[in-house]
Amino acid sequence: MDCIFCKIVQGEIPAIKIFEDELNLAFLDIKPRSPGHTLAIPKKHYERLEEMPEEEAKELMGFIHKLIKVIPEAVGAKGFNLGINNGKVAGQEVMHVHFNIIPRFEGDGGSSIQGIVKLEVKEDLNSIGQKIRKFLEKEKNDKNFEREWEEFNLETQDDIKDFSEARRE
Ligand code: 5GP
Ligand code: ZN
Repeated sequence: MDCIFCKIVQGEIPAIKIFEDELNLAFLDIKPRSPGHTLAIPKKHYERLEEMPEEEAKELMGFIHKLIKVIPEAVGAKGFNLGINNGKVAGQEVMHVHFNIIPRFEGDGGSSIQGIVKLEVKEDLNSIGQKIRKFLEKEKNDKNFEREWEEFNLETQDDIKDFSEARRE
C-alpha cells in the first residue's frame, strides 16, 4: 500500500521513533510545530478514527496516555494539545489515522483547539442535541456498536431553556 506511515511502520522509510507496542507506534513529526511534536498511530492501516474497532481505539488512547506523561516534561513544555485531523475537510493529508501530541510553550504563537473553526452556529443547541441523540439511538438499535449502549439512555434528557446556566462563564 502506498501509505507513508505504513512504510514508517515497516521500516521502509526512516523516522525518529519514540515508543512502540504491539499495536501502536509513536514518532516525531517531520515538520514539528514545536519541539517534541509527536505522531501516535496504529500500526494497522485505518484511514479514519471511526473505522478502528473500539478495542483498538482504546489501546491507542492508552498508548497516547503513556506518551503524554513523558513528552511535555522531556521537552520542558507546560502543556500540550492532542488532536487529530480526521478527514480531508478537517485538514487530513496523510490518510492513516494519526494523533498529534503538540507540546505548548509560553508565547509560542499558537491558539486553542477551539480556534481552528470559525463557523457562527445559528442553529438552536437543543435541536442539534436532539439530532445527535436521534442518530445515537438509531445506531444503538441497529447494534452497529461493538458493546452495549445501555448506559447511553438519554430519554430523560431535558431541553435547556436558559443556556446561561449551561455555560462555563
Ligand atoms: P495531516 O495529515 O494531519 O494534515 O498531517 C500529517 C502530518 O504528518 C504532518 O504534520 C506532517 O508534517 C507529518 N508527516 C508527513 N509525512 C511525514 C513523514 O514522512 N515522516 C514524518 N515523521 N512525518 C510526516
Ligand atoms: Zn497506512
